[in-house]
Formats: sequence, structure tokens, C-alpha cells
Amino acid sequence: MKPGLRCFDCHRPVHAAANQHHCPRCGGLLDVIYTGLRPRRFHGRGVWRYKAMLPCRIPPVTLQEGATPLYRCPRLEEELGLREVYVKHEGMNPTGSFKDRGMTVGVTMALQLGMKRVACASTGNTSASLSLYAAKAGLDCVVLLPQGKVALGKISQAMMHGARVLSIKGNFDASLKLVAQLCESGEFYLLNSVNAYRLEGQKTAAYEICEELGRAPDRLVLPVGNAGNISAYWKGFDEFQWWGYVKNRPRMLGVQAQGAAPIVHAHQTGKREVTPVRKPETVATAIRIGNPVNAPKAIRALQQSKGDMVAVTDKEILQAQRDLARLEGIGVEPASAASLAGLRKMVKQKEIARGETIVMVTTGHLLKDPETILQECGRPTEVEGNMGALKRALLA
Ligand SMILES: *Cc1c(COP(=O)(O)O)cnc(C)c1O
Ligand SMILES: [Zn+2]
Repeated sequence: MKPGLRCFDCHRPVHAAANQHHCPRCGGLLDVIYTGLRPRRFHGRGVWRYKAMLPCRIPPVTLQEGATPLYRCPRLEEELGLREVYVKHEGMNPTGSFKDRGMTVGVTMALQLGMKRVACASTGNTSASLSLYAAKAGLDCVVLLPQGKVALGKISQAMMHGARVLSIKGNFDASLKLVAQLCESGEFYLLNSVNAYRLEGQKTAAYEICEELGRAPDRLVLPVGNAGNISAYWKGFDEFQWWGYVKNRPRMLGVQAQGAAPIVHAHQTGKREVTPVRKPETVATAIRIGNPVNAPKAIRALQQSKGDMVAVTDKEILQAQRDLARLEGIGVEPASAASLAGLRKMVKQKEIARGETIVMVTTGHLLKDPETILQECGRPTEVEGNMGALKRALLA
């Protein structure tokens, strides 16, 4: 199919320069649209299985992202009193988060557009992912991280894959503003989720879920930060139905942390505009974002899907992280556990019907944030190397 860019707000076609991510007429976000015949069949596994619905026309920069497991969760079904609950574990991507789906496409587009340098601001996972794909593609990479608020695993990845890692004295929102300005010069290609091509990669997770279930779920639950992923999933489900591969679309349930919940507030008050949260705070650092750039797309996804937004506390997030790990064996980072915390809250409020098929997205892997885990779980018990001491320790 033939890709093109269109303004998300005024719907006019846009012929954008490589470093341009907004409509020249109205300033709206951009969207990728496709014309032509849909393929009858798909080939291969993962993101590139759907290359006909992606904007790239050169060989991809890929490490086999996507094709992540969709786990059935019987013990959570029992607890929640729901018939069918699944987890789509996006922590099983090459760098351990769903960002890889976006970056394999985004970095391929950077090459296609002739860019030599790439950049992003990041709460951590975006930088880990961009560093890897830039390395694979042979591109220079700069990442801006908010000082002191990025999980250790993510920084380690960015450093090892060879990005220039800058720690910015300011939060994520400030870092994003800075890097967007840096990229306006045209020397660096911006790979935050304001880049519409990145979302094209991320939408493939929705396709995978539909193919595996043979239909779309009734509800999709996921954590929301900059709101790129909820927008990408909705676009994926919408397209899959529009092209006739499935007959239904899910309701979207977005979850934010109470200390960083601007879209929850907008949704609850029926507003179309988001009022930024000046000082976002949560243990779930991946969604510690006060001014989500993709809010217009997320709000439309919520309207079109009859969706909901819910806020959860850090305590509920950490409890859900522990339960995913101990009840279902699914190890996720705190932001990802917001999915379960949010679903629990909605079940308690009797907003979910027993017969619904639910898919929760867990966005990042447990190993991303070891420091939070050690704070929560404590450290191993020290024991002398003899049987007496071992038995005493086990009986205690
Ligand atoms: C990036 C990220 C999110 C938030 O996704 P958005 O597209 O910014 O809403 C959630 N969880 C994890 C683990 C992430 O890395
Ligand atoms: Zn426009």
C-alpha cells in the first residue's frame, strides 16, 4: 500500500520535510495513511510481517522485534472474576520494551530520509531502544535523560550501545522541549513519539493481538505516559477492522499514575484539551510525564472507542507488579504494572463485564528497574556456608 502523511486535525495531506512533525497550516500532529489494496496474506513474524502497512521502502534495520507472547492469566481471571484475561508482554522485545517496535521503523525511516544523526528525550526506554537501533544502523545518537529519574537498566543500555547520553537538569517534559528544538535545525532526526512513523511500528502489536485471538479483544488496557502507544494501538485496531481482517474494535482503557494523570483529568471533566501537570511524580518513571504530546490522538481514541482513563496510586502499581510476578510469572517494570492496577480498579467499580475478553499490555521488562525492586523486596538473607546455619535460616 502507498503511504502518505496527513494532518490529524485538519485532515489535509502534508508534504513534510524530514524534521517536520506538525501540520504547516494548523500545527496539528501528523498521521500516516495508506492507499491501495490491502494484502491478502502476511509473511514472517513480528513487526515486519506487516511491512505492507508500514511506510518504509528500504530494507529494515531490525533485530526481530515484535511477535511477543500473549499469555493467558488464569489466576488473575479467578481473582478478578473475569472469563478471559491476557497479558501481551512487550517486555520481551530486544531491549525489553515496546519502544523497539517504533524504533525499528523510525530508524529505518531516518535512513530512508537520508539523516545521519538521531536524537530523543526519554524517561529511559526510548533512549535504550534508539541507542540500539542507531548502533545497528551506524547512525550517531544523542539521548537526553531527566536527571536522577531514569531506571538503572535503561541508562546502562543507552551507555553500552554507544549513544551520547546527556543528563538534563529538568524533567522529561523540559528535556523533550529541548531536543525538539535541537532537531529543528535538521541535523538530528527526532525519534520521540511525536514522530508519526514511530507509531506505525507500535501499531503492529494490535495487529498481532487480532491475529492471535482471531478477533480484537473487547478491551485493551495499557499504561499512558506521552500517549503515543495508546494512539498507536487504536490506529492499529481501527485499520485492522477497516481493512476487514476483523469485525470488531476494543474499548481502550488507559492507566496513569495519580501523580502524573493529565489525561485522566481531561477525560473525567470531558475536556478536549489537557492541562499539563507541572511536577509529575510517580515510582513508575516510564510514565512520569506531565504534558503528553500525543494527547489529541489519545483523546480521540478514547472517544471513538468509548474508552476510559483511570488513575492508580504508586502503592497499587507496586502491588500489581508483585502480583504479576508471583501469580502469573510475568516480570514487568512498575509502569507496566499500572495495567493490572487500573483493571483492578475498574473491576472494583463494576465497570467491566464478566464475559469481556481483556488484554493488558505490559510495556517493559522487570530487569529495567532493579533499584525499585530491591527497595520493595529487600535483599537476600546472608547465611554462613554450613548446614546448621542454613537450617536455622530456613526455619526462621
Ligand atoms: C514509554 C513507556 C510507556 C508510556 O508510553 P507512551 O507512549 O509514552 O504513553 C509505558 N511503559 C513503559 C515501560 C514505557 O517505556
Ligand atoms: Zn492541519
